Order: sequence, then C-alpha cells, then structure tokens
Amino acid sequence: MEQPLKIKKLDEAVVNKIAAGEVIQRPANALKELIENSLDAKSTNIQIVVKNGGLKLLQITDNGTGIRKEDFSIVCERFTTSKLREFEDLNTISTYGFRGEALASISHVAHLTIVSKTADEKCAFRAKYEDSKLIDTLKPTAGTQGTQITIEDLFYNMNIRKRALRSPAEEYQKITEVVEKYAIHNANVGFGLRKQGENNDVKTPCNSTKLDNIRLIYGHIIARELIEFSLENDPYKFKVQGYITNPNYSTKKFIFLLFINHRLVECQALKKCIDQVYTTYLPKNSHPFVYLSLELDPKNVDVNVHPTKHEVHFFNEEQIIELIMAAVETKLLGSNNSRVFYTQA
Ligand code: ADP
Ligand code: MG
Repeated sequence: MEQPLKIKKLDEAVVNKIAAGEVIQRPANALKELIENSLDAKSTNIQIVVKNGGLKLLQITDNGTGIRKEDFSIVCERFTTSKLREFEDLNTISTYGFRGEALASISHVAHLTIVSKTADEKCAFRAKYEDSKLIDTLKPTAGTQGTQITIEDLFYNMNIRKRALRSPAEEYQKITEVVEKYAIHNANVGFGLRKQGENNDVKTPCNSTKLDNIRLIYGHIIARELIEFSLENDPYKFKVQGYITNPNYSTKKFIFLLFINHRLVECQALKKCIDQVYTTYLPKNSHPFVYLSLELDPKNVDVNVHPTKHEVHFFNEEQIIELIMAAVETKLLGSNNSRVFYTQA
C-alpha cells in the first residue's frame, strides 16, 4: 500500500517568497504601493523611471518627509509601519498603507535600494535590502530631502511569476495607467514617468487641477465634454466628487477611474451600474469617461483587503450605488436638455 508523504513545514524563506509574490504580482502593483508611500510622506513631486517594463528597473523618487536614519534598519521588515499603532486604528486610518507589508514583500522578490534624507539630517543615507533585512551598513551619500526607492530585477528568484507576466510593453502600459490615474486624483502633486534614457511619457505639474490633468492625459476631446459631479449624503455618510462626460462624448471602451478613500480600486458593481445609466444616452456599444472619488466613513469600507484584491466592497453598497446612479442620471438629463437647446439654437 502506498503511504502518504510526510507533512513538512516549509522553509521560512520559501514561505516569505510565496507570500511576497502574492502581494506583489506585477510591476504596476509594486509601483502603486510605492506611490502611496510617497503620497503618505507628503511629497509634492514624484518621478518614476522604468526599464524593461519595470522588470529590470523600477525607480521612484519623491520629495517627501524621508525616512529617519534610525528607522533604516527595520523599514523593510514585515509589519513595520509608521502609520498604524493599534488595531483600532484600522477603523480610522486615512493613510494608504497600514500593514507595513509592501517594502518587505518587494525585498523578498527583488533587489531593493533605499536612499533617503529627512530635513534634520545633513546628508542622505543609502541602504540595500534582501529578504527584508538591511545588508551591509548605511552609507552616507549626497541627496536632497525625500526618498528614492530602486527596485531591480523584480522576480529574479521567481521564474514562474516572471514567465507568467506579459511583455515589457504591456507591463509598461499598466504602469502608465497607474501613474496617470494617481496624477489626476492628486493634481497638487507633480508626477513624471519615463523609460530610462528617454523622454517623459507622463508629466504633470505641481499644483495643477484635476481638470487640467485630465486634459493633459486623456486629451481635450474628453476634457471639453466633462461635467463636474458631486454628491453628498448624510444618512449613508458618503461623499462623491468627480468628472463625467456628457452624452456628446462616447468611446468604445469604458474609461473608469475610481478612488475610494483616495485609494485606486475596482468596484465592478458600481462600474456596471454607471455604464448602464449611460446606455439611454449613448449610441449602442459605446461608453463614457468617468472619474469618481468616493469618500466613505472608514468604518464602512473593508480597508483590510489584501493588496492584490483591488476589488472593494463596502457597507450599504447597493443603496450607495443606487444614489450615485440617480445623481448621474440627473446630471445627464440636465446636460441633454442643454444639448438639445444648443443644437436648436
Ligand atoms: P506601510 O506603508 O503599510 O507602512 P510599507 O512597507 O509600504 O508599509 O512602508 C513601511 C514604512 O516605510 C512606512 O510606514 C514609512 O514609514 C516608510 N516609508 C516607505 N516609503 C516611504 C517614502 N517614500 N517616504 C517616507 N517614508 C517611507
Ligand atoms: Mg505602504
């Protein structure tokens, strides 16, 4: 008779690598975490350089508060964070990161270098990390205030994950979308994205407006058909702001930018419902551009979702979606009237 194989505990290094590969699935994923860290650090300028779709190099430079010299030794350990102290904080947390997992994960599946300078230090410090540990000593180096995170050879030790990825061109496309969306949502922050040795593909100025950034990124054909959208609801404690195209504009593929509590997320239910409102107004098989920033009481969103689960669910989802749909409908009706008026004039 065949005997079962003995159950063995996996090696810790293997466990870490598997877990990290779950958190960081592709370059665009890693970049999103890094952008959120830079925003948390109050940066007003975030510049990104990429080589080979982010697989060879993914580098982000910000002008934020920086990392304290004494924190360098633990910054990449799992569950180390400057943002969350108590379990209760999970309910009120307003910063993006909250579990101290991103840098740790990246250090398990890539070569990670951090250069950072706070306002108080005379110079910057440089450190390299592997498997969440600082390797070597801190090296003083020249630098301005802020942080530069360099990720090289992503998934060098995970061939399966690497092979599952799309072409560098497609990975770069995903990276571009992440940068563009964050640039629109955070119009006060200047964003830049380029391939190493080439010119910028995305470039937004500091202190811009959302509308100007939409025009810059998606073009004036969309920008000139935008209606400002806002809605506030007390009973369900939510607030929405954004820009949606009027019925004059339509495109083959629905462009939907959704931020919930300032985090770029997906919500298929909301997306479908909004698309549906437009079906009465747009030609068959065509869709709008919609950018929405939804703010919910942090108690009502499950912030504790896994970083890869971009799909978000929230409390009173159905009612809130219905209220948003009704408000979109009202907006479209209004703009439709003015369009009729306009064409008759
Ligand atoms: P989290 O964001 O959940 O705290 P991360 O692993 O993303 O976890 O980051 C760990 C810590 O490293 C952060 O809490 C923060 O203190 C520091 N950090 C990371 N990136 C930056 C940055 N760009 N500027 C300043 N501090 C940073
Ligand atoms: Mg983070």
